[in-house]
Amino acid sequence: MNWHDYGARYYDIKDNEPVFQIVNQDKLTKTTSSVVMAETYRNSLDIKIGTKAVPNMLNNNDNRTFAHELGHSGGLDHTMDLENLMTQKFIIQKEDGDYLKATLLNRSQIQTIRDNYIHNKLNRHIPNWRQRLKKRQ
Ligand SMILES: [Zn+2]
Repeated sequence: MNWHDYGARYYDIKDNEPVFQIVNQDKLTKTTSSVVMAETYRNSLDIKIGTKAVPNMLNNNDNRTFAHELGHSGGLDHTMDLENLMTQKFIIQKEDGDYLKATLLNRSQIQTIRDNYIHNKLNRHIPNWRQRLKKRQ
């Protein structure tokens, strides 16, 4: 899904708006397949980390969530590669992979972030995108 799918105009994030936020778990999207630990709208600087993720991050038991969300902000989608940073934890666990070791980005992903940066396609902040998404579902 792209930013224009919301029928909204994006704007650059303002100086007084947070890039990272720790939010109550119930503010994140609910799914039936997994617990959402954090979420970021692709190509945006609007990164929300759920409270459930914080203890593991503080205890060095989560080296991925922050970097994974930054990957989304750089324009990356999810992958299915069990060693890749952008593969969701529940998928890695389902395949008995070690999610703490799934920290790789491939050349194409790095190129995507680089291209998005060069062509000014980052920082696509959309006000209230979660509510807009819910209305469409
Ligand atoms: Zn993700």
